[in-house]
Amino acid sequence: MSNRDLTRLTAAEARTGLHAGDFTSVELTQAHLDRIAAVDGDVHAYLHVMRDVALTQAEAADARIASGTADVLTGVPIALKDILVTTDAPTTAASKILDGYVSPYDGTVVSRLRERGAVFLGKTNTDEFAMGSSTENSAFGPTFNPWDLTRVPGGSSGGSAASVAAREAVISLGSDTGGSIRQPAGFCGVVGLKPTYGRVSRYGLIAFASSLDQIGPFSRTVEDAAIMLNAIAGHDPMDSTSVSEPPPDFRAALRTDLTGVRVGIAREYTVSGMEAGVTSSVSAAIAQLEALGAELVDVSLPHTEYALATYYITAPAEASANLSRFDGVKYGLRVDAPSLQDTYRQTRGDGFGSEVKRRIMLGTYALSSGYYDAYYVKAQKVRTLIKQDFDEAFKRVDVIAGPTSPTVAFGVGSRTDDPYQMYLADIFTISANMAGIPGIALPCGFSEGLPVSLQLLGKAFDEQTLLGVAHAYERAAGWFAHVANL
Ligand code: GLN
Repeated sequence: MSNRDLTRLTAAEARTGLHAGDFTSVELTQAHLDRIAAVDGDVHAYLHVMRDVALTQAEAADARIASGTADVLTGVPIALKDILVTTDAPTTAASKILDGYVSPYDGTVVSRLRERGAVFLGKTNTDEFAMGSSTENSAFGPTFNPWDLTRVPGGSSGGSAASVAAREAVISLGSDTGGSIRQPAGFCGVVGLKPTYGRVSRYGLIAFASSLDQIGPFSRTVEDAAIMLNAIAGHDPMDSTSVSEPPPDFRAALRTDLTGVRVGIAREYTVSGMEAGVTSSVSAAIAQLEALGAELVDVSLPHTEYALATYYITAPAEASANLSRFDGVKYGLRVDAPSLQDTYRQTRGDGFGSEVKRRIMLGTYALSSGYYDAYYVKAQKVRTLIKQDFDEAFKRVDVIAGPTSPTVAFGVGSRTDDPYQMYLADIFTISANMAGIPGIALPCGFSEGLPVSLQLLGKAFDEQTLLGVAHAYERAAGWFAHVANL
């Protein structure tokens, strides 16, 4: 196989080829490193390429495959969002305040992948501390969309999404607090899965909003998302919010027929300002679900209109607490000043970018005495109402289908001056985080040459149904075969 073909493989195909002896992990890894060298100057998906680590891991993977003790991910090259701490590469969260920081420990998902023999290609770009929807808030410059380099890749996990879309990684990991896996997956035409809150350990994920954050995969196929979820899911004593029940085999849940599946259509997932090309592709995808045997059922999620406002109280409130640890003493950047207070002030003033400062200020305000009840407590109550909407809907349906985002990828720079317009990019993804439920984004067509994405939401801890429905649609629709021409 040529180097170029090796970068087109899914993880499932790579495993087959590695075990059949068609190519080695070193060859597969080198092909991806070559691809990164060829295109990442344009895409800027990576903040740090782990070339030597990757080749050493690939050699070990080849030995393990030869010895017959390999796992499904052994030897498969993957990319990690630069918010997952790693011992053998810097972790910056795309912030100046962590420039050059190297963690003394691996996050749980990272160590699980290491044990399985996966190959780490590098750390991918993100909005600073995962705050954003376009990856333009990175302190180290934006990532560009592989389908059109004048467009954003979405965010915050834009580097992870772009790395898979540009064939610079087979699979990648990102994090989703309000849409940061699903929305960039949608903009980049790949699959993105946000698991149920508690399904995957957050230990070693730099915290943004701890009650919302969840780690999940980007991949070219739903099967690969299931393979990755199998590898990272499950209880971890280091994260008390990870659930104790053992995860099922997600790959076994893939199906091709949707007979008996009830798909909810929420009228609230049609909003003004939605692009016509998005509406038509998503409608066609829903019709295809029906053609595959699913029953379409109208459902209502009446509190959807409050989700954005609720999120922008809750997430900044949690962020303001989580980010207080970056003070110039414990980690990363330190700007010395005559007093300790001034050292804190100057370190944080110089180290954080403007969106992060905006969130810290919003959050601190929402939590401050006199405003706490009016904002934070009220937001928690509305969050419960949003969750109850889903509880009601899921009494009648197995999944809910709709658009991932109201638009296709927007132009670089087109929303940077208007935070509210930027926040609107997550209007369909945020509710799932508020309710803790899983969601998957997958390609469902193109509008003016740019990928459109279908979002499926599922019941808590029922990723099986979600993956099953997504796989059936993906195989029937065939959009996965379209690859960015870069
Ligand atoms: N775009 C949303 C925000 O800026 C969500 C980010 C995320 O999911 N990490 O907060």
